Amino acid sequence: MTKTKEHWDVYSPSTGEHIYTMNETDVTEVDSFVAKSKQAFQTWSRMDFSKRLSYFANLRNVILQELDQTTDVIAKDAGKVQMDALVADIMPVLDFLKFLESSAEAILRRQKVKTPIVFIGKKSYVEYMPRGIVLVISPWNYPFQLSMIPILSALVSGNTVIAKPSEITPYVGKYMEELFERAGFPEGVVQFAHGGKELGGALVASKPDYIFFTGSVATGKIIAKQAAEHLIPVTLELGGKDPMIVCRDANIERAAKGAVWGAFTNSGQVCMSVERLYVDETIYEPFISAVKKEVAALTQGASKEHDVGSMTFHTQVQIVKNHVNDALVKGAVLETGKNPTDWDEDSMFLQPMVLSSITNDMKIVSEETFGPIMPIIPFKDEQEAIYLANKSEYGLNASVWSNDIQRANQIASQLVSGAVIINDVIISVANHHLPFGGAKQSGVGRYHGEQGLRMFCHEKAIMQDAGKKSNEIQWYPYNGKFDDFKNMIEAFYGNQRKWVRFLKSYLNLLKKSK
Ligand code: ADP
Repeated sequence: MTKTKEHWDVYSPSTGEHIYTMNETDVTEVDSFVAKSKQAFQTWSRMDFSKRLSYFANLRNVILQELDQTTDVIAKDAGKVQMDALVADIMPVLDFLKFLESSAEAILRRQKVKTPIVFIGKKSYVEYMPRGIVLVISPWNYPFQLSMIPILSALVSGNTVIAKPSEITPYVGKYMEELFERAGFPEGVVQFAHGGKELGGALVASKPDYIFFTGSVATGKIIAKQAAEHLIPVTLELGGKDPMIVCRDANIERAAKGAVWGAFTNSGQVCMSVERLYVDETIYEPFISAVKKEVAALTQGASKEHDVGSMTFHTQVQIVKNHVNDALVKGAVLETGKNPTDWDEDSMFLQPMVLSSITNDMKIVSEETFGPIMPIIPFKDEQEAIYLANKSEYGLNASVWSNDIQRANQIASQLVSGAVIINDVIISVANHHLPFGGAKQSGVGRYHGEQGLRMFCHEKAIMQDAGKKSNEIQWYPYNGKFDDFKNMIEAFYGNQRKWVRFLKSYLNLLKKSK
């Protein structure tokens, strides 16, 4: 991919073909993006909810009408196989749009909550008010869903959005912009800024009302620091080094198939991919054999029939190379795949690599690799597996494999992780009723589900009194009220409520507060 300001040529990493030519957004345009966003907020935020949702239904229908083309754009721009584009990038967005259409209004409407008895006669509510301009900065690995889901989550409550998709997959960014246009979203409600770091930095500096970032830990920290200067709230969705724990009573065939998909889907360029595989030592050998059998059956290419696509960008290939070389130098054994010395420098395809004889000092165990690697490590007992799984700076996702569901749940409860999946991998991200986010260096905040919509709002507490009484018991004058309050507190907050004493003191207070 080469680019100049006016002429940005996009090439597919898998086929090398020229797929698109587009323009980059100049940093000088940021001010006008912000002005447009502010302007659009005036009407979008006040629009009737059902009218707002009608645009979401339009968008869902446009995506469905253009399913083949959308799949193609994502697959070509990211070097994914078409199945990965369709099932893991597009389907979650359609599912999310359906969820918004059916549930968003109920989640975001004013909610009545309980009022304590001491505030008798009053009513309490929680209201969700859009924050204003939300900046969504997204990555290249799932360029569609990791942009669309935060964008839609912010839009539905009435925020306007400025999106900056990844410069590594710019055609998807442009295509998303066109989808919103074709769905008829009003001008300025969602704008796409196309470019890289510099543009991202300028957008952060423009002081949006909320920043939703998905990407690397390093960039997340830069953005969080910048945001802290102006107390701009941020959600950070960062990396992972997800462990998979296979207990001795697991279904080995299923676990092997799950591990292979979990480690190699999207060429391992998944923040939730299986990057550390801990296997009970009693089934270590049969498990490796089962995994090797599955890997041998995988096909690589760029069509609908292929299983594994290419890497998306060259820098990532170098990181994978560095990690694999480091492991091999330190004694790891390459069970499948090619030694980096035999990699074709002109190809973005990396064969899936299963590695054994792993030691804890290898980068492949501690650093996020984001490539098609599967280091397999034996463990002696569950406590050791839990210890090793938790011994990471990351904590995004994990999986536990066992036929004993109770035992698997007990292990799951001890893992420091944003999500744990039992006898499956990755899928929790596709259930919009579950929160998504990470522990430790994997991020700050959660989205998806009810809280994923509410976080883009000012959560406002409203308490209401009919306004008929001229005074309140806790208002002035204090004179003569202390003992009644003390009585009331003792009657009310002890292990057993003493209602007569409570009422007596309460009535005294009312009398003194005319
Ligand atoms: P990745 O390697 O996963 O792409 P990055 O963190 O480098 O992770 O990039 C994720 C997104 O953040 C991209 O859209 C990128 O352009 C943007 N970005 C990178 N650096 C900055 C920055 N300093 N300020 C704002 N956005 C940035």
